[in-house]
Amino acid sequence: MSERTNGNKAVFSFGNGHADGHAGMSDILGGKGANVAEMTRMGIPVPPGFTISAKMCQRYLQEGDIPASLREEVTAAMSGLEEASGRRFGDADDPLLVSVRSGGKFSMPGMMDTILNLGLTDETAKGLARQSNNPSFAYDSYRRFVEMYGRVVYGVGASADGVDQFERALHELQKTRDVSRAIDLSPADLLSLVRDYKEIVWRVTGSRFPDDPREQLWGAIGAVFTSWNNQRAVNYRRLNAIPNDLGTAVTVMAMVFGNLGEDSGSGVAFSRDPSTGEKRLFGEFLANAQGEDVVAGTRDPEPLESMGKRLPDAYAEFKRTAALLENHYRDMQDLEFTVERGKLYLLQTRTGKRTARAAVRVAVEMVAEGAIDRRTAVTRIDPNQLNQLLHPTIDSAAHVDVIARGLPASPGAAVGKVVFDAETAAERGAAGEHVILVRRETSPDDFHGMVAAQAILTARGGMTSHAAVVARGMGKCCVVGARELDVDPVRRLFSGNGVTIREGDWVTLDGSEGRVIQGRAPLTLPEPGAEFDTLMSWADEFRAMGVRANADTPEDAAQARSFGAEGIGLCRTEHMFFEGDRIHTMREMILATDLAGRRRALVQLLPMQRSDFAGIFRAMNGFPVTIRLLDPPLHEFLPRDPAEVDRLAELMDLPVTAVQRVIDGLTEANPMLGHRGCRLGILYPEITEMQVHAIIEAACEVAAEGIRVIPEIMVPLVAHVEELRQQATIVRQTADRILTERKAQIPYLVGTMIELPRAALTADEIAKVADFFSFGTNDLTQTTYGLSRDDAGRFLPYYMDSGILPADPFQTIDQDGVGKLIEMGTRLGRRRNPKLKVGVCGEHGGDPASVDFFQHVGINYVSCSSFRVPIARLAAAQASLGARAPTD
Ligand code: PEP
Ligand code: MG
Repeated sequence: MSERTNGNKAVFSFGNGHADGHAGMSDILGGKGANVAEMTRMGIPVPPGFTISAKMCQRYLQEGDIPASLREEVTAAMSGLEEASGRRFGDADDPLLVSVRSGGKFSMPGMMDTILNLGLTDETAKGLARQSNNPSFAYDSYRRFVEMYGRVVYGVGASADGVDQFERALHELQKTRDVSRAIDLSPADLLSLVRDYKEIVWRVTGSRFPDDPREQLWGAIGAVFTSWNNQRAVNYRRLNAIPNDLGTAVTVMAMVFGNLGEDSGSGVAFSRDPSTGEKRLFGEFLANAQGEDVVAGTRDPEPLESMGKRLPDAYAEFKRTAALLENHYRDMQDLEFTVERGKLYLLQTRTGKRTARAAVRVAVEMVAEGAIDRRTAVTRIDPNQLNQLLHPTIDSAAHVDVIARGLPASPGAAVGKVVFDAETAAERGAAGEHVILVRRETSPDDFHGMVAAQAILTARGGMTSHAAVVARGMGKCCVVGARELDVDPVRRLFSGNGVTIREGDWVTLDGSEGRVIQGRAPLTLPEPGAEFDTLMSWADEFRAMGVRANADTPEDAAQARSFGAEGIGLCRTEHMFFEGDRIHTMREMILATDLAGRRRALVQLLPMQRSDFAGIFRAMNGFPVTIRLLDPPLHEFLPRDPAEVDRLAELMDLPVTAVQRVIDGLTEANPMLGHRGCRLGILYPEITEMQVHAIIEAACEVAAEGIRVIPEIMVPLVAHVEELRQQATIVRQTADRILTERKAQIPYLVGTMIELPRAALTADEIAKVADFFSFGTNDLTQTTYGLSRDDAGRFLPYYMDSGILPADPFQTIDQDGVGKLIEMGTRLGRRRNPKLKVGVCGEHGGDPASVDFFQHVGINYVSCSSFRVPIARLAAAQASLGARAPTD
């Protein structure tokens, strides 16, 4: 059955003002195909062509061959393209040449393959030479085509000794002829290079390079489809949560040439500044060059404004077109264009990738301009991207030794040890080291190293080079085009400004100012700016879920407030015991052999806890504070190192053997499933009493200052309602006693963490005794999966790599399993106690995809680390607006 029946059209043509597709068809045409169709409809000059549906990619990958029906449709579309362009494919006099470009629904810059100048053969290259009256241009185009096709379709490139075979052939000839650029070789030399390149392909693959343009076309279409599954594309999709089964569309477009002379050129531009968001056309232009030259960073482009001087008419038209497109799409556009002998052609438009700072500024300014509404502005920003705004910069007061300056490609600052290849970056990054990847220029093959690195530094390339675009997308600090640097990847060093930096040496990168700094510079936290506050205030208008912070000290609490936390969802009291010499008193308590001894130590701990709680209540100034009773197994407070054990024994005036006996006695095979959580308070109720005593006294003290206090006392790791009943009784009796003594009336709540499957399954029972639940999703994930949170890192990455798990369940909630327990626990709990307040305080509280799920199941608030509070606020707003559809 033909693909065209049942609406299964597979090929969509565009050209001369008419297009089968439109912007709303990115599902099947990919972003590129959909937008060239849209631009064509708008009357913008786009070379004619056609796009093959991404559905065909899926079929090709399954069947391993181009379906016959697709061949028919493509053949028909090629005839249409010949007509639209006025040239014939394979014509010996005036050949039609095409580009074959990949393009999925979601932009994956540089990850998949593209072939230019397709249709060149010995015959047609001569025709092009005559037509253009420029044999060097024609044969250089032919050379580039054979090289690109050889790489993409035949996978030819590096030889066994790691040297690129095409580059070697070119460099050898250039050396013999003493020229620095391929284009300066004679036409005869360029043709002989073409023969050499074909020979390389033949030697490596045993395949004859196709001299029939149609055969070239089928090979290119198949290769572009196949590039959907190359390793870097797979990695990119994993990092950006792009589904693997979408496939890429293929756009075949008539070639236009930016390298026909000084009245031609190519460029890349953004309708606003992608680093700062400022409303100004921003980009780069290369005269007498093809688009690939700009993106690859092999020649240094000029600022876009230079095009205004060289080609004023084309520049004026480009400015008009950029404004038209931004207005049409109502978002900042990233444009690729070519000028061929003074005539402008748009090759691509897409939503421009931008830094978080730019994203926020563009969204807020577009609301002011009336282009979008607040709701749209709030849904425009990827919450995870806010990380960039909340990340460090170099302390401006610090003295730093600047080795070199480059372009500030992606802001933020980072400190790390220098490495010179992606492999080493990936290895050391996986081992937990902070590394900075230094390259002459990056290629998409470096992607995994860029992911692992703290920051990226290149000696070459411009603001739209591969390194710049990819780093910006990842929100990673990046400096490109640091030309003063001499990078020597073989000797594994770089030098500049009289300084030599070797692999493993520390450097600091300043991605906001483009500085390369020797050593480890001190970093400071950023101030996100007025637009950020505006956007966050809009997010808060739309948000239904509360956002609190996990904070353990008054300083943390103040920080949390400054990020907009509406309370503390988890104060881990054990952290307080590690401060200063408190740990001695804590150890005294643990080493005590009887109740009296324990009480003596607890009496000393009480005022310390009280002052911390008071500080936190003050910082929270009327917002609720959830304080968790002691949770970790007691052995965590005791030393392991024999010398430390000796010191402790001396300090406590005990024999070493006695101390060691206690330590041995506390040793457990599975401490995370052992004597921890409420099980501590059950065996040592005096600990619970002391903590509640401190909490309520602190509350009375702060309330007396006229500050509203809302203490919420939380019992950890409850599995059975009786555990909570027993602990809640102690909590209430102690609290009420103190309040009566103080003649104070402070409402407080008693609740529990739900971090064990049994607690979720019996939530209706537990809710009889609890005023609130807080899902401890870290432990709940650990115990539901039976997966140790401390050891899973050793094998979990393999689970994601091999597709067993879509994501790390400790980062993004496992909706089908752990999520089901959360949904059930919430439902059962509320059925018994309709007023039950339900929160989440595990790491997932700051993960946007998880936040969306929590909204879906009716959680009242999430709580996360302070720096993730803005992310959670924005994610919660988007969840309320339904901007991120929950995956059921
Ligand atoms: C949890 O288990 O999710 C939690 C918040 O507690 P902790 O991480 O301290 O075990
Ligand atoms: Mg826990």
